[in-house]
Amino acid sequence: MTIDLTNALPACAPLDGSPITEAAFVSKDSLYQVCTRCIMDTTDPLIEFDEDGVCNHCKYFENNITPAWFPNEEGARKLAAMLAEVKAYGKGKEYDCIIGMSGGIDSSYIAVKVVEWGLRPLVVHVDAGWNSELAVQNIEEITRRLGIDLVTHVVDWEEMKDVQLAFMRSNVANQDVPQDHAFFAALYSYAIKSDIKYVISGSNFATESILPQAWGYNAMDIKHLESIHKEFGTRKLKSFPRVGFWDFYFRFPMVKGMKVLAPLNFIEYDKEEAMRILERDWGWRYYGGKHYESRWTRFFQGYYLPYKFGYDKRKAHLASLVVAGQMTREQALKELEKPLYTGNMLAEDKAFVSKKLGISEEELEKLIHEPCRHYSEFPHNEGQFELWHGRYQKALALRSKAKQISGLPKVMGNKVLATGRRGGAYGKALGNKVLRQAVRMRNYGKAAARKMLGR
Ligand SMILES: [Zn+2]
Repeated sequence: MTIDLTNALPACAPLDGSPITEAAFVSKDSLYQVCTRCIMDTTDPLIEFDEDGVCNHCKYFENNITPAWFPNEEGARKLAAMLAEVKAYGKGKEYDCIIGMSGGIDSSYIAVKVVEWGLRPLVVHVDAGWNSELAVQNIEEITRRLGIDLVTHVVDWEEMKDVQLAFMRSNVANQDVPQDHAFFAALYSYAIKSDIKYVISGSNFATESILPQAWGYNAMDIKHLESIHKEFGTRKLKSFPRVGFWDFYFRFPMVKGMKVLAPLNFIEYDKEEAMRILERDWGWRYYGGKHYESRWTRFFQGYYLPYKFGYDKRKAHLASLVVAGQMTREQALKELEKPLYTGNMLAEDKAFVSKKLGISEEELEKLIHEPCRHYSEFPHNEGQFELWHGRYQKALALRSKAKQISGLPKVMGNKVLATGRRGGAYGKALGNKVLRQAVRMRNYGKAAARKMLGR
C-alpha cells in the first residue's frame, strides 16, 4: 500500500475494543486485511502481504531481527564479552555506564540486571513534566534499593509545553516526538558531558521489534521538530534538550566514542517475568499499559492516536510479542478486544492534559478533530537519516565481518605458532605469516568501513 494523503479526516475510531479498521492516509478503497501470522493490519498505511497473507513486519523480524537476537548460549558469551569491555573501561572511574530510566518495565529491569552483572551505573531520569506519580516512585525506590546514584534532569516546563502544543497544532501523528527527543538528547548530552562512554539501554527485540514507520516519525530528526515549533510555537527555545544530526550520527559515536548497548537482546527477556521480579523484589508497581508511565503517553496512545488516526499502538506491541514467541496470536487478538480506556479515566485525562497545557477542554477537542497531517508535509531530514543510517549500518556490518574473518586465521595462526615454537623455525615463520594475513584482512575491513563513512 502507499500513503494516501487525501484521506486526512479524523477517523474518530471506537475506543471500546471493537475493531479499528480504518485509518488516516489509508486509501478508502483498500480492503481491510489482517496478517495471518501476527496481528498487524491495513491500518498501517504501508503494510504489505505475501501470497500467504504474511505481512512485511513478520518478514522483517525473520530476516533482520532473528539474526541479531541471541536469547541463548551465544548471547551469554556475547553478554560476557560486553560486560568485560564495560568493566575494563570503567576501571578507576566513578561510573562505568549510564542508564536512562523512565520508571517503565524495560528501563527498571535493565537497572536491576546491570547491578546484578557487577556494573556501576549512573541513572539519569529526564522529567519532561508528564511523569505519573507511580513512575517517579518506581525510579526512586529502585535506585534507593540498588544503592545507585540518580540524577534527574528537569526540562523547562514552559518550553516543553510550547513544543508539545506546537505539535498538537501541527496535527501530525507522532505527538511523542517532544518527549522522546528531550529524553534522548538530555541523556546523550549527559553521557558526553560526564565522559561516560557506555549508555545501557533497556530496548529489546523481545517486546518491541515491530513499529510501523507510518505511525510515528523519527523523534531524533531535529529539523522536523524545529520546523514544527517554528510554525506553531510561541516562544524561543533556550534550554530545551536538542540533539542535531551531526552530533547524533557522528560526533557522539565517532568522535566521542559513545556506545549504546542493548544487553536485553543477549538474554531470555520475558516481560511478564521481569514485571514479577520488579514487583516482588524491588518495590516497583505497574501503571497499566506499555509506556503509560507517562500520563501524556497514556493520553496519546490510548486516545489521540487511535481515535484521530486509527493507529492503535497496542497492535504493534502485541504483534512484537507474538513474533518473539511470548504470546500466541489468539491471546493477542483477545487482548486487543479490551477497551483503550475504561470508566472515567478518559475524562480525567482530558481534563488533566488540557489544564497542564493551559488550554480549555473545548480547544483540546477542537484540535483533535482537525484534519490529520502527514509528517512529510513539514520540513524534515528523512532522506538524510535513511542514507546515513544505511551507510552506518553497512559500515558496522562490514567491520564486524572483517573481525569475524580475521578471527579464524588469527586462531589458526596462534595455533600454528604454538606448534611452531615447539617445532622450530619453520613452524614459527608459518604461524607469523598466517597472523600477518589475519591482520591484513582486518585492516582491509576497517579501511573499507572508514571509506563508506566518508572518513
Ligand atoms: Zn505479520
